[in-house]
Amino acid sequence: MPVLMRPKKFHKLVAFDFDNTITQDIIGPTNHHKSYLDVMGGQQRLNHLKKLFETLTKAGVQIIIVSFNVEGYVRHFLQHVGLFEYITYVFDRYSIYRNLKKIMPNQHALWKKYKKQYFMMVFVSKFFHIPGKSCLLVDDQQSNLDGLDDFCGTLKIYTRADNRGFGIRDSDILKIYLFFNIIT
Ligand SMILES: [Mg+2]
Repeated sequence: MPVLMRPKKFHKLVAFDFDNTITQDIIGPTNHHKSYLDVMGGQQRLNHLKKLFETLTKAGVQIIIVSFNVEGYVRHFLQHVGLFEYITYVFDRYSIYRNLKKIMPNQHALWKKYKKQYFMMVFVSKFFHIPGKSCLLVDDQQSNLDGLDDFCGTLKIYTRADNRGFGIRDSDILKIYLFFNIIT
């Protein structure tokens, strides 16, 4: 959980999934055949994401990553493409499980199916002191978003049937701005 910057007090929060949301592929030890820029879908898409992150941060929206990937991969990748400076926290599979076990020790059955949802509802909102209605979870997997509508905003990122995605697209960026009432 690296803390990289604490600018002003954040009053809103966006939680991005990593694989196929920030990226256009699943990042791990096996896909060394692609360049970082390829995985990001090219320089133009990367520039658009940088602009998104910069705009969100300026608007007081805290950016975190909530991913079932491993923090080392996520951090290394984001550092390499120049996006890490905008991220205040990375929660990976280990921090998700550790915190869910800690805060909901006897409710394994409850959070087992809806891990990200309970992590958002029980941990993220309280840890950052930001009400659910000011939080947005952006994810390419519907199973990570199901049931959250009454708690926080959700944005489903399009993924193809073969599980290869396009990640956040320009149309998603507009929806994120709309959610946070940002006029650019
Ligand atoms: Mg994903």
